[in-house]
Amino acid sequence: MTLVSVCPKCGEPSPLGLCDRCRLEMATLLECPDHVEVTLCPVCGSYLVRGRWQEAQVSVEDLISNAVAEEIGIHQNLSDPQVDLSVHKKNATQFQVAVHLTGTFGELPAEEECIVAATVRRATCERCSRMAGNYYEAIVQVRGSAGAPASEELAESRKIANAQTESCFGRGDRLSFIQETKDVKGGIDLVLGSTQQGRSIARAIQERFGGSVQESYKLVGMRDGKNVYRTSILVRLPRLKSGDLIRAKGSYLEVRGFEGKRTRCTFLRDGASVYLSEEDAEDALVVGNRSSAERGVVVAGDRDVLEVLDPESYRTVSASRPSILEANPGDEVEFLRFRGDLILLPPRDEGGSC
Ligand SMILES: [Zn+2]
Ligand SMILES: [Zn+2]
Repeated sequence: MTLVSVCPKCGEPSPLGLCDRCRLEMATLLECPDHVEVTLCPVCGSYLVRGRWQEAQVSVEDLISNAVAEEIGIHQNLSDPQVDLSVHKKNATQFQVAVHLTGTFGELPAEEECIVAATVRRATCERCSRMAGNYYEAIVQVRGSAGAPASEELAESRKIANAQTESCFGRGDRLSFIQETKDVKGGIDLVLGSTQQGRSIARAIQERFGGSVQESYKLVGMRDGKNVYRTSILVRLPRLKSGDLIRAKGSYLEVRGFEGKRTRCTFLRDGASVYLSEEDAEDALVVGNRSSAERGVVVAGDRDVLEVLDPESYRTVSASRPSILEANPGDEVEFLRFRGDLILLPPRDEGGSC
C-alpha cells in the first residue's frame, strides 16, 4: 500500500490535510459588523468614542471609517492584509462603508469585501449641556490683600484665566470652560466648569503676582448617585506689586517678582538681590511704583550723588545715586518722590535680575 497525502475535500495532492484552496474557500477572511454608529455633538462638533467625548479633528467620513476599522475582524492566517475603506454618504445621517480586504492566504492571493451601514447620531455633549445649563464646579475669587486689586491686575488675571482654560481643555479636561466672570466688591469671581481648571488658574495668577491661595469646598447635592461638591479657591493678591519701590530692612528695595510666599527684591543702591518673607512684605512701606516715576535732567554729579533738576520746582536737588545708575550731565533719570526727597531709580532692565 502506498501512502499519498491528498486533500480530503478535493483530492488534490496536499501534504497536510486540506489544501490551501479548500481552506481559503471555507475561511471567513473578513468579519464585518452590519452597522456602526458615531455620535456627534451638534453644538461643538466633538464626538463620542467608547463613552468619552473627544475633540473632532477629523471629518465625519474619517470618524466613520475609523469606527469601522476598529470593528472589523481579519483572519489570522491572512498575511500582508490590506484594508481599503470607502465611505459613501446617503443622507445627512446615513452612510455606507465599502470594506475591501486583500492579502495572501498560504500561497494564494485572496480578497474579500463587505458593506457596513453607518449612522451619525446627534447628541449634545456633556460640556455643551453643562455650559447651556449654567453648571459650574468651581469659583476662583481674586481679591486684593488690602482693598481692591488694581484694574491691571484684574485684567491680567482674566487673561491668565482664559489662557489656562484653553490649555486645560487642550490637555483633555472637557469641563474646562469659563461660565461667567463677575465683577464683585474687592475683585473678580471666575465661575468655572472644572475644579482642576480652577486650581491651575489660581496657581498661574499666584505665579504672576504672588499672594496666597486657599481652597475650600462644600457639598451642594447629588448627581447620578454621586455627591457633588463645589470648590471655592480664594486668590489673595499681595500688597506689593512688581515695580514697587519699598522701604524695608532699613533700605530702599525694588520689588522684582514673587517666588511662592517670598517677594524677590533688589537693593536700590547696588542691585543686589534679596528675598522678603511674608511678614517683611506686609510691613514694608510702599514709596511708589516705577510705573509712576517722573523724569528729571542731571545737572552734575559724582560717584555717590547726582544733582537733578526737579521738573516741578525747577530747583536742583541732590539725590543719592544707585551705583548701577550710569548718568552724565544732560541725561534724563527716573525718580520717585518720598518725604521731600527724590529717590533715583536704576535703569529698568538691569540691576540684579540675576
Ligand atoms: Zn482541496
Ligand atoms: Zn459639545
